[in-house]
Amino acid sequence: MMMMHSIAVCGAGTMGAGIAQVAASSGFNTVLFDIQQTGLDKAKAQIERSLGIAVEKGRLTTAGREDILQRLSFTTVMEDCVADVIIEAIVERITAKTALFNQLAAINTPDTIFATNTSSLSVSDLSAAIAVNPTRVVGMHFFNPAHIMKLVEVISGVQTAPEAASFIYELALQLGKIPVRVKDAPGFIVNRVARHYYLEAMHLAEQGLADFSTIDQLLESAGFKMGPFALMDLIGNDVNLAVTQSLYNAFAQAPRFKPNILQEQRVKDGKLGRKTGLGFYRYEQ
Ligand code: NAD
Repeated sequence: MMMMHSIAVCGAGTMGAGIAQVAASSGFNTVLFDIQQTGLDKAKAQIERSLGIAVEKGRLTTAGREDILQRLSFTTVMEDCVADVIIEAIVERITAKTALFNQLAAINTPDTIFATNTSSLSVSDLSAAIAVNPTRVVGMHFFNPAHIMKLVEVISGVQTAPEAASFIYELALQLGKIPVRVKDAPGFIVNRVARHYYLEAMHLAEQGLADFSTIDQLLESAGFKMGPFALMDLIGNDVNLAVTQSLYNAFAQAPRFKPNILQEQRVKDGKLGRKTGLGFYRYEQ
């Protein structure tokens, strides 16, 4: 495996902050990039808080915490994203992701691996739009919260070089994750199955059969870690809706993937979930 020292994480939102924390905690020099300073400030505070909790619980020493923070830098300057591996966790829109990768390809070496944390977009389509060396584009799909959840789906597109996919698989192991190779199908495995968890719950609520918290409580009592409404608020309703739209379109608008008005309305109203303090539920900021 190629010697690897540095990781640039693009997008400092819900996922990027957690991925950067994991990367720095695993010994890599890590740059976290976002176009918005407010996003970076929030991510920094979140990482500091999370490492602080680890110290309190005796899972990390104070010196260990300082080392991790030393390895992390935060930037709004794209030119700072020069690394062995780029992990993008920006908005779930193919044009935005390919534009970012093409800009980064111009300032990195042709060997730099480009990993995408997309939840639903085709890795083949993404790599096809990369002008320089599309064989190094790999899907690396983390789960929320990224610093806690172990599963990482590793996805090869049609052009992905086997060595690039193996590289990302190994990297996931180095990050303490459990990587699983999956095919490049819409939503891969988890998000495709999980769509119906969210959509069916919203149908129930829309039909007035039960309210959000009753549905959540019942599913949690049945053994699910989080009820669907609490989970959509954690993920972000904008992100969750974008993933549903992406699958709906990928499956020729099959009714089983049709986005639900309850979520569409929340996104229109800016009720994105935990990140805005209001979603299906209200949160203290
Ligand atoms: P988010 O909305 O919380 O954060 C996205 C961040 O990207 C924002 O801070 C935004 O300012 C930044 N951004 C947007 N365009 C950018 C650009 N061109 N360059 C740099 N930064 C840019 O989103 P998120 O929930 O972290 O999701 C990010 C990606 O991860 C999406 O592809 C999503 O599908 C995927 N994902 C999300 C979850 C989840 O539970 N939220 C889980 C797995 C994967």
